[in-house]
Amino acid sequence: MERIFNFSAGPAVLPWEVLVEAQEELLDWHDCGMSVMEMSHRGKEFMGIRDAAENDLRKLLNVPDNYKVLFLQGGATLQFAQIPMNLLAGRSADYVVTGSWSEKAFQEAQRVGKARLACSTRDGNYSRFPRREELQLDPDAAYLHVCTNETIHGVEVHDYAALPDDVPLVVDMSSHILSRPVDVSKFGLIYAGAQKNIGPAGVTIVIVRDDLLGYAPGNIPSLLDYSVQAEHDSMLNTPPTFAIYMAGLVFKWLLAKGGLAAMEKHNTAKAAVLYRAIDESGGFYRNPVALENRSRMNVPFTLAKPELDESFLQESKNAGLLQLKGHKSVGGMRASIYNAMPIEGVQALADFMALFAKRNG
Ligand SMILES: *Cc1c(COP(=O)(O)O)cnc(C)c1O
Repeated sequence: MERIFNFSAGPAVLPWEVLVEAQEELLDWHDCGMSVMEMSHRGKEFMGIRDAAENDLRKLLNVPDNYKVLFLQGGATLQFAQIPMNLLAGRSADYVVTGSWSEKAFQEAQRVGKARLACSTRDGNYSRFPRREELQLDPDAAYLHVCTNETIHGVEVHDYAALPDDVPLVVDMSSHILSRPVDVSKFGLIYAGAQKNIGPAGVTIVIVRDDLLGYAPGNIPSLLDYSVQAEHDSMLNTPPTFAIYMAGLVFKWLLAKGGLAAMEKHNTAKAAVLYRAIDESGGFYRNPVALENRSRMNVPFTLAKPELDESFLQESKNAGLLQLKGHKSVGGMRASIYNAMPIEGVQALADFMALFAKRNG
């Protein structure tokens, strides 16, 4: 087979070595005579897989002991509702809206309880993260919600230390978790759907500080109550076993690669290649995001001549560079270059872009 370079925003590219390992183990996991998909989630084999996944994730992110790691379902989208259900306790929460995903989180929170807009960058077409002095913060808020990598608009927060943490910080890290080291103790709750930078779709990771648990009202479904999930090691019902297994293989792959500091180096180098291709195109390609908020994971760009969009997509596809079409809400192109995208893929894209610009400039 010929392996292409996949720039999809999610579900997205997985490490080749992980796919091969999963293939080798697919029919018979570690000589137990069955596939991971066929195991009881309460058997010792799967319990071992689950515990290893949690321990490896804790190691990668250096998760302090006073945080619970939950493996849930429903995607990051269910978290948009589950977070206010668990943390509001009759109060109000603040939301910073910097793109489509934090906008959705804000809308969904309003269905559940009281949510306040602390700042929106909509007027500037979501092209930057606001400065601290632009945020109108409620000192009594139950939490402050931010999305630190807007997958569609390509806006990333690089300086976590600058985020206010007077009230618990709740962060949607779906599309850049594990792309670099993070000081988990800065946050009240971190969440991420798996299908961007962790593994296949189906599992959602929530890392939550102990003292935030136990405030959910008694009338929410027990499956949605973090403290009930934590008490049961996220096994209140059948968890997405195969997705957890795959995420666990990715965690092991990351550890073997040198962990998140090594990933940060790799990702910084890749992003530099792609932004250089855009910036040195003499205006043929353009990225609208403020320099300090350019995402290392999701790089949206437009062509100065949108009438060339279709041929760009067709020719890049012929060159083995797939899923470059931008999100329908912003148009143009988007290259997602998660951990598993090798630098060779980014270089091939940059080379193609230069060639395409030369032919059509
Ligand atoms: C993809 C994404 C979501 C939604 O994830 P689902 O798993 O589809 O619910 C939420 N937030 C961000 C930042 C995302 O990239």
